[in-house]
Amino acid sequence: MTMKEYVNKNTRKDVLFMKIGLIRCRQTEDMCPGTMDFKIIREKKYAFDGIKEEIEIIGMVSCGGCPGKKAVTRAEEMVKRGADIIVLASCITRGNPIGFPCPHAKQIKAAIENKLGNKIRIIDYTH
Ligand code: SF4
Repeated sequence: MTMKEYVNKNTRKDVLFMKIGLIRCRQTEDMCPGTMDFKIIREKKYAFDGIKEEIEIIGMVSCGGCPGKKAVTRAEEMVKRGADIIVLASCITRGNPIGFPCPHAKQIKAAIENKLGNKIRIIDYTH
């Protein structure tokens, strides 16, 4: 995983952080507020299993609606604000919660990689 070291202002100790920016499906916003995504990040499960570092969420945005072109600029903005890793939520790649994956998921991921791949890593599911 990509990591950066930051000094915790309270403890003065160096702390390793993963800073993530989440992108979700615009079409599922009405039926899912991302509760499970936040829970599994907090509990470090599924895509975050075994992560030792602290996880800071820089932001959670949607793809902007079909066909998802805004995902690239929105990912770029989260990277500007400190994200080391862009995470595509499972609503995009696995179709959670209704079993309907995004038909543009591969293209969205490829476009983000093309624009930001030299700066960040992409995780392509949450749970
Ligand atoms: S492009 Fe994909 S991720 Fe975005 S709203 Fe449409 S189905 Fe959802």
